[in-house]
Formats: sequence, structure tokens, C-alpha cells
Amino acid sequence: MREMTFKSASELSHAYILVSPAPEERLEAAKTIAAAAVCSAPGKVPCGNCRACRKVREGIHPDVIAVRRLVDDKGKQKREIGVDQIRTVVSDAVVLPNEAERKVYVIEDAECMNLPAQNAALKLLEEPPRGVILLLLAANAESLLETVRSRCTEIVCGSHAAEGDAEGQKLAAAFLKRCAERDEAELFRWCAANENLDNAAASAFVESAIGLLTDMLCRRKSSLGLSDRECYDLVTLLEHAGDMLRLNVGVKHVLGLLAVRGIGNQ
Ligand SMILES: [Zn+2]
Repeated sequence: MREMTFKSASELSHAYILVSPAPEERLEAAKTIAAAAVCSAPGKVPCGNCRACRKVREGIHPDVIAVRRLVDDKGKQKREIGVDQIRTVVSDAVVLPNEAERKVYVIEDAECMNLPAQNAALKLLEEPPRGVILLLLAANAESLLETVRSRCTEIVCGSHAAEGDAEGQKLAAAFLKRCAERDEAELFRWCAANENLDNAAASAFVESAIGLLTDMLCRRKSSLGLSDRECYDLVTLLEHAGDMLRLNVGVKHVLGLLAVRGIGNQ
């Protein structure tokens, strides 16, 4: 359990897609969200210390249900998560939770859901029973149906903040702070003060900023008050800036773009 960034469990969305090429990163994010959903602490969740949080951590909370690929007679894991497994989830989801106020289904390797299974999952996403949270873990969200994706909050997990150099990290933190403070004049001043960076330094800054935002979305770092939506919009903007730098567009021009679009109006 790292940063605790949900003000309360009611802040949680009813469905998430947690994306990372590394299974342990997806699971880590899933445990944090699941713990937030069932945590019994009064303030920010997950507290990490209550009985519910500890049970989630140990994988023994009765209201946090893992759905995995089944194992065949020869002890080999099946390639797909079939529709029957998801139908079981759908019928179980209407049953009240055991201990907590919410119930969380963690579908590991969600991209292994075959088409009928994904369509069955859609039913849950379209009419989620009260207090039910669905976590879809995937290496790549693109393998999921668009109709599924459009109903989930997508979080890209990963320790990307290590990317970029130390100077890039410093610039990224300074840039995001100004975006979060919504101080347009200050953001303009900052961008103007850095317009003489060379292309490599600017690229390192952009890369670091994307890494920081990814960590914010994964609740590894404080979001400084930026909403998930704002983080996503900034990632999109910075990716665009990175593309421009790769095409050798002038740093001054790229920072100008960030100054104009860094706050709220992407
Ligand atoms: Zn707790």
C-alpha cells in the first residue's frame, strides 16, 4: 500500500482497467483500490492498517474476489477466461458483501476474457449493482472491447518516473506544480524562462513529466490536486510535445504550446 489518495471509498469509480506490462504492478494497483473500497477507516482510504486493509494485502478478504484463468486437468493454465466464469461473477455480484460495504472483483489477465466473456462483463459495467467494483487487469487495454473500455476508468501503472534524468525530473516537478496551481501567469513565466533548453534537455523534461503523471494516476505519487482527467489530458499534451521535439520543432515553440495548453483547456 503506497500513497492513500482517495478521500473516501465513495470517490471510487465502479470499474477500472489497470494497465501495466508487469503483472505485479497491476496487482499492486488492484490491491490498493480494493483496500480503498473495503477499508473501515473514517478518513482517507486505504488506511493500510485496519483489519480489512490487512486482509486485502494478504489476499484473504472475502469481499475481494479474484477471477483467474482456470487450470485444466493437466495442471496447465487455460488460455482464456470463459463466459461461465464471468456469468458466475454477474450472479454473485447481486449478493450483498460479507464484511465490507463494497465488493470488488479482480479479473486478472482481463485480456484473456474471450468475446462472450467480455460481453457478459459488459452487463455488469452497464448496470453495476450498488457497491460493486470491477477491476480489469491487463497488459494492454487495446485487447479489450471498446464498449468495455469506454465504461471503465483506465489507469496506466508503472514506475516510469525513473525515466528521464535528474534535471528533467526537477523541471517536470516544477511544470506540474504550476499546472496544478492553475496559475497561468506563473506557468507562462516558467515556460519562457526555460525556452533556451536544448532539445535533449527538453525531451528529458517531457519524458519525466509523463512518468510523474503516470505515477500520479497509479496513486504512487500525490496528484497535487490534479484530477485523473487533468492528468490524462496533460499526458496527451506532453506526448504531443514529445513528438514535436522528435521532429526537431524548436523548444521555444513547444514550451509555448505547453504554456497555452497546460492549464485546463487542452
Ligand atoms: Zn483500512
